[in-house]
Amino acid sequence: MKYLLAVIFSLFANIALATELIADQYPQSELYSKPVEVIPGVFSAIGATQPPSYENAGHNNNLSFIVTDEGVVVINGGASNRLAAALHEEIRKVTDQPVVLVINENGQGHAMLGNGYWRDLGVDVLAHVDAVAETVENADAILTRMQSYNGDQAGDTRVEPANLSFEDSYDISLGGVEIKVLYLGPAHSPGDTQVWIPQWDFMITGDIAFHERMPPIFADTCSKCWLETWETKLEPMNPTYIIPGHGHPTNMAQVRRFTRDYLVDLRGKIGAHIEAGGDLAGAYYVDQSRWSKLHTFKDLATRNAGQVFVEMEWE
Ligand SMILES: [Zn+2]
Repeated sequence: MKYLLAVIFSLFANIALATELIADQYPQSELYSKPVEVIPGVFSAIGATQPPSYENAGHNNNLSFIVTDEGVVVINGGASNRLAAALHEEIRKVTDQPVVLVINENGQGHAMLGNGYWRDLGVDVLAHVDAVAETVENADAILTRMQSYNGDQAGDTRVEPANLSFEDSYDISLGGVEIKVLYLGPAHSPGDTQVWIPQWDFMITGDIAFHERMPPIFADTCSKCWLETWETKLEPMNPTYIIPGHGHPTNMAQVRRFTRDYLVDLRGKIGAHIEAGGDLAGAYYVDQSRWSKLHTFKDLATRNAGQVFVEMEWE
């Protein structure tokens, strides 16, 4: 009886864990979740929408791969060598094709810290020049931060910048698939990169597009430029299928709502606050309740408001 109660109790404990904390959706792997096939030949391991932690092993962004008859292209190195290896294991389960290229969607830790795993296998890694510069400049800080939340899971991860770089675009033709690696313009962080496959009307947007969780605005983020890039470059391309930087695969309407509309709303609120003679201390409290259902709202809403105030003060 005691044993039965223990079993029942642990069953409920697990259900609570799965629905509320969602600490890990794929416990048998270093990955937070098992890759899903989004459209034929394109797989993505969807990251947690929480900040990086030991529980999600830093897998809080989307790690994707494109399978062609002439090799596999991986999007994002992941936050550690172990995460890169775990993704490789999943790739091997769906194809015998070798990985021929890894693309970093920006210079952040979860986009590039796993590069060393791939470079050791002789695989090329591509990133935008600004992302490479970011990686090199902040190498120590990025690695130390990952080691601090990841503990033993950091393993032998090192900072290995991409060995290939591009400025405006980089074209890949592989097994009849035309892949365009693009830099549409400044957005969330230096060197944000988009992977566009016109023949499938499909884009891996990188961190220009978020949903499910609140987009973070950093000190080096220009929210005005982000909106400009969105309106003039991304919007006209109008991909049907999207894997965003964060959140499940979706479409333009959804990322427009939770990225573009959020930025427009926050800038509008901060603009009105400045117009009314408001200061930084008051800016943190502009009304963002419309977005309170987004994950990481509590971590980011006030910080974002402060960043946008500092940016808009000078506009
Ligand atoms: Zn990201």
